[in-house]
Amino acid sequence: MSDRAPTPVLPLASPSSAAFAAPAGGVWRDVAASDWQDWRWQLRNRLRTADELAQHFVIPPELRAFLEAGHGFEVAITPFFASLCRPFDPTCPLARQVLPDVAEATVRSFERADPLGEDPYRKAPGIVHKYPDRVLFLVTDTCAAYCRYCTRARWVASGADSLGSAEQEAALAYIEQTPTIRDVLISGGDPLLLSSPKLNALLDRLAQIPHLRFLRIGTRVPVFLPMRIDAELVHALRPRRIPVYLNVHCNHFAELAEPVRDALARLADGGVSLGGQTVLLRGVNDTAPVLQETFYALLSARVRPYYLFHCDPIRGSAHLRTSVDEGLDLMRQLIGHTSGMAVPKYVIDLEGGGKIPLWPDFVEQMDRNVLHVTNFRGERWQYVNHAD
Ligand SMILES: *Cc1c(COP(=O)(O)O)cnc(C)c1O
Ligand code: SF4
Repeated sequence: MSDRAPTPVLPLASPSSAAFAAPAGGVWRDVAASDWQDWRWQLRNRLRTADELAQHFVIPPELRAFLEAGHGFEVAITPFFASLCRPFDPTCPLARQVLPDVAEATVRSFERADPLGEDPYRKAPGIVHKYPDRVLFLVTDTCAAYCRYCTRARWVASGADSLGSAEQEAALAYIEQTPTIRDVLISGGDPLLLSSPKLNALLDRLAQIPHLRFLRIGTRVPVFLPMRIDAELVHALRPRRIPVYLNVHCNHFAELAEPVRDALARLADGGVSLGGQTVLLRGVNDTAPVLQETFYALLSARVRPYYLFHCDPIRGSAHLRTSVDEGLDLMRQLIGHTSGMAVPKYVIDLEGGGKIPLWPDFVEQMDRNVLHVTNFRGERWQYVNHAD
C-alpha cells in the first residue's frame, strides 16, 4: 500500500456537453429543438428495439437475437442519454450502463432476483421497512431508462405501474400509524416520473405526518431526462414543514453534461437539497481517476456524494461487478488524496442483512495505550491513547 503511485488527477474539463438542442449530427439531427426539450417526446422516442438501438449503438448479431428473444429486463434509453453515449463504441462507460449485453443471460449461482431480500419486509403496499427509523416507499415501477444492473429488476418495469390510490392510502396509513418512522425514502422505479400534481400531493400528505423529520427521493431523472425538471416539478419538491432531499443516481462524470448540470441548478435554486449515489461498475467507473472526477463534478453541480454502492448480485450482472477488494482499494486511493467532501460511504447491501459500510483499515495494531496506524500515504504512525 505504501508503494502506490499517487492518484493522478484528471483535469476538471467540462464533460462532452450536448447542448439542449438536438445533436447536430447523427440520428437526431432533424428533431426540432422544441421536441428534443419536451420530456414526453423523449419518453415516447426511447430506443427499445434492436433496430432502434442499432441507429446509435453497435448491435452484433448475438445481441440482436438476445433482444429479439425478449426474455431479459426491460430495455429503454432516452434519446437524450443516448446522445451522451459515444456512438457505436461498445466501451463507452455510459452505454455500458443502459445497453443490454448477451452476458446478461449468464446467471451465477449466487445471483438473486431479490438480492436485498426486501420481499419479507413489505409491510404495506410499496413499503419496505427494514431499519428502525426509516422506510423505503416504492411508488412506481417505471424509469426514464433502465440500468442493466438495477437492483430491483424483478419489480421495476414489471407492469406493476404506479401505486393505485387505495394502495397509496394503505401505505400512508402504515407510516401514520408507525411513530418510530422519521424519514421516508421515496423510490421505485423513479418517483420523478409521477405527474407533478401527484407528487406534490404525496409530499404534502407525508409532510403533514408529525413524526416525520425529512423526506428523501431517489431518482435518476436529472441524468436520463433533465427536461423533466421543470418549474412545476421543482415547486412540487420544495421544502415544506420538513425538507425534501433528492439523491441523484450518477455513475460517471460524462453524465453531467450541461443540460444535466442546468437541471441540478434549477433543483438546488428551488431549495431542494441534493445528494449523490453512485454504483461501482466494471468498465464504467472502476478506476480512481474516474471516481475522483465523478465526485468532484457532482460537488461542482451542488450534489454531495452520499453512497458508493457495490453492485448487487442481481441476476446476469457479473460482467458489470467488481470485487469488494477492488472497491476497498479504490476507496484507499480516494481517502486523504481528495477532499473528504468527495468521498462517499462505500456500502455493500446483504440479502436480509442490510447495508454494511466498508472502510479500508487504517489501524494496524492496537496495544494497551498505543494505536499503530497507517496514514493515506502509507506511512506508519503511532497514536498514544491517553485514556487513563
Ligand atoms: C437503503 C435503504 C434505506 C435508507 O438507508 P440509509 O442508510 O438511511 O440511507 C432505507 N430502507 C431500505 C429498505 C433501504 O434499502
Ligand atoms: S433508475 Fe434506478 S430503479 Fe430505475 S432502472 Fe436504474 S437503478 Fe433501477
